[in-house]
Amino acid sequence: MPRNASETSSPLRFTVGYLFFTGLFVLLTLILLFFMEHGENSAVTGTAGANSPIMPCIVLDAGHGGEDGGAVGVDGLLEKTVNLKVAQMLQDMFRLAGIPVVMTRTEDKMLNDPDAAVSGKRKMTDLRSRLKLVQGTPEGILVSIHMNSFSQAQYCGLQVYYSSNHENSVILAETVQKQVKTHLQPDNNRNIKPADSSIYLLAHCDRPAVLIECGFLSNPDECAKLGNDEYLGELSTVIFSAICHYLSPDGSMS
Ligand SMILES: [Zn+2]
Repeated sequence: MPRNASETSSPLRFTVGYLFFTGLFVLLTLILLFFMEHGENSAVTGTAGANSPIMPCIVLDAGHGGEDGGAVGVDGLLEKTVNLKVAQMLQDMFRLAGIPVVMTRTEDKMLNDPDAAVSGKRKMTDLRSRLKLVQGTPEGILVSIHMNSFSQAQYCGLQVYYSSNHENSVILAETVQKQVKTHLQPDNNRNIKPADSSIYLLAHCDRPAVLIECGFLSNPDECAKLGNDEYLGELSTVIFSAICHYLSPDGSMS
């Protein structure tokens, strides 16, 4: 069933352990209370008035969609499908925490110009639509979700790319990368990377913006994990936690 940002209720799609999630939620509540009280000092808030901070809005971008399946896993798993699952899990968590969230897509489709005749043109108009949504979202923070792939199967692990157009992007990227190493992938020694011009959204977005390559579909073990909803719930929870750390008043709680 199609989903959109205006829906108010939906079944939760993540299956993380109850204790872990409860502990996390208590932490988030404390962060949010502090954020609401001291939001005017936060690097990611604006000031509409002396004590009326503007809440940031997380723009969740599930990469690819429709005719653009993205990377293909060793077992046939499509990147576009995993991207959307993770984005929807994150959407649920942000809603629960009362943090504004917008999705670039909630269905298996591209956001392209329907009149574009060739594939390359459709892909470009799709990316432009996503960029327009981010740029048009007040206090928007872009979190683009993707899965990686490489010709050699041994490579694995999450890696975050960031936009060089906004100074906060690198802070957000570092926070996500660090939280994942601490709580999900202790052997992950990857470093964050600045996006080059090949990552259109990050190259053109002037908001805080990161693209998270959540794992390698070309690695059999990691591909199996990315096909498992329970693992995706854990992955989404850690990403959510990292973004909440970033949103804390000085972004330094991580
Ligand atoms: Zn991708």
